[in-house]
Amino acid sequence: MARIKINIKDGTIKRSDKVIGIDLGTTNSLVALVNQENHEAYCLGENGDKIVPSVIYIDANNQIVVGDLAKSHLLSESSNTVYSVKRLLGRSFTDLASHARSFGYHLVPDDTKAMVNIEINGKIYNPIELSSFILKHLKQKAETILGESIGKAVITVPAYFNDSQRQATRDAGKLAGLDVLRIVNEPTAASLAYGIGLNKAEQKTIAVYDLGGGTFDITILQIQNGVFEVLSTNGDTYTGGDDFDRTIADYWCIELGLKIEDIEANKSDYQTLRLKSEEAKKHLSEAPEYTGQIVLNNNTYNLSLLRETFQKLINPIVEKTLKSCAMAMKDADLSVEEIDEVVMVGGSTRTLYVIERVQKFFKKDQVNNKLNPDEVVALGAAIEADILAGNRKDILLLDVTPLSLGIETMGGLMDVIIPRNSKLPSSAGRQYTTSIDGQSKLKISVYQGEREMVSDNRKLGEFTLENIPAMPAGLPKIDIRFILNADGILKVEAVELRSGVQQIIDIEPQYGLSDNDVETMLLAAMQHAEADMHARSLAETKTEAEQVIYQCKKLVQNNSSLLSGEEVAETKTAIENLELICKENDKEAIITSMDRLNHITRPFAERIMDEAIGKALTGKKLDTL
Ligand code: ADP
Ligand code: MG
Repeated sequence: MARIKINIKDGTIKRSDKVIGIDLGTTNSLVALVNQENHEAYCLGENGDKIVPSVIYIDANNQIVVGDLAKSHLLSESSNTVYSVKRLLGRSFTDLASHARSFGYHLVPDDTKAMVNIEINGKIYNPIELSSFILKHLKQKAETILGESIGKAVITVPAYFNDSQRQATRDAGKLAGLDVLRIVNEPTAASLAYGIGLNKAEQKTIAVYDLGGGTFDITILQIQNGVFEVLSTNGDTYTGGDDFDRTIADYWCIELGLKIEDIEANKSDYQTLRLKSEEAKKHLSEAPEYTGQIVLNNNTYNLSLLRETFQKLINPIVEKTLKSCAMAMKDADLSVEEIDEVVMVGGSTRTLYVIERVQKFFKKDQVNNKLNPDEVVALGAAIEADILAGNRKDILLLDVTPLSLGIETMGGLMDVIIPRNSKLPSSAGRQYTTSIDGQSKLKISVYQGEREMVSDNRKLGEFTLENIPAMPAGLPKIDIRFILNADGILKVEAVELRSGVQQIIDIEPQYGLSDNDVETMLLAAMQHAEADMHARSLAETKTEAEQVIYQCKKLVQNNSSLLSGEEVAETKTAIENLELICKENDKEAIITSMDRLNHITRPFAERIMDEAIGKALTGKKLDTL
């Protein structure tokens, strides 16, 4: 789907099929692209200008400024300068309440599960909008540099981001006017930047150590057939390079005989000291010693810091990250010897002491740190974007299934077997049974989508399990298994376990579904969530009622000699009543009528109940042919 753009200045038509890669970071964001001549990924921007601080400043006229210019307002106008918006994406106020005070801007208190709102100059913004401002800025930056309009992107997110955080990121992209072709895990992108996983034959286990400004993540990945699987993640959402700066600031205060509380009370002094600390930290990544001067409260002080001292100061923070690494290794059930590669990500991994300690922890002579650690995620996103743009036909990268896969159960309900966002390859199964005595065939219809009723989802195919030996309803044990391989091809297996009768078919779930289709379907699922729930519970009630009717009719038919004429007549009337009411869409009325029928039949049913009925009344059943 190529986009056609008309340049309104000169009337020429421009076709841009470039797909950009975006690292939407907590502290900093970057945009990257693959050069079509040398096939290398590069970050857009001049040297000092590649990194865009993830900061948004909104002035009194609601004008929006993003990046370095916004950052300069952080202290002077903290209530209308938003930083760390990534921490708010897909989160509710309740999720964030314990940290609410650490944000310099106003989070609107709310006790619902809804996404948190931010109030700026009396206007309400949500994190999706705010993130879209950063994305729009990055999009415009790319357009200015490339001289053409850009419509498609790949955006990265932390591996631990849940569904709603991923969806929120996707929506932010959409709001920024970007068609988000894929949301990629940051550690996956970082590995790609180092070329790990690009060779299909390669099988590797990788540790990605990402120490940014305010967050730390460790991810253990396994790559097989070009598929990245997250084995485990760990980390600390409030540990990062900013903590290094803080320890230096504290240290200098003590050295200079200043009270840290006094400095903190004066916002501009505090900011000056913090910036000096960061400068020293960065300098120590290159040199063994830092010396400088600072003016605080109109007094000039000399500053100095040895690399050795700095390492002692940050040691507890580094130790903490290694503890997380140990936990991630434990969760992945691996020893450090089983890790083939360690990838260093995040600006803070420029600190030599961090590299040293990580090398030692993983018992490696070398770690992957040749690329710019603050650029690797964006570079990897650009490589993924290049693959999705169709420029590299040799590789197929698929890491999750975008929509849920399931089958139709009685009442036209969607029964999900593999939920959306499951890692590929993936396999799952569930047992079903028949709903009618002697049923010999079972139709299995396979659907893709998030809605409760299959009629609202997309049908992928259907097949029939035949030759089921005659058994009472509820007795056959039919195992339906979905096997989704790395290429997104779905295989469905159905086996009747008592007899061994089986059937297998191949289905291609991704076929013909563009990302736009996926998005539309997800959006519809969100919008219809409540109505769907009602429809589902009505359908479930009707199915239950139909089962009760079927069983009661059978009961009367098979046991007429055991029942009094009165009992038979009463039951028949109650059945007719329930059948009539089932035609209406009133769940409560159906339940009342069903209860009445159950009440009438219970005394004699108990007398003559055979096991099969009990079984048939519970459990899920497929529709009959
Ligand atoms: P995020 O992923 O959280 O957006 P980044 O990966 O951009 O963050 O990392 C930002 C952090 O990297 C900041 O704390 C910054 O001070 C630190 N940093 C940048 N350059 C260096 C350097 N040369 N040495 C040490 N730390 C650095
Ligand atoms: Mg980052």
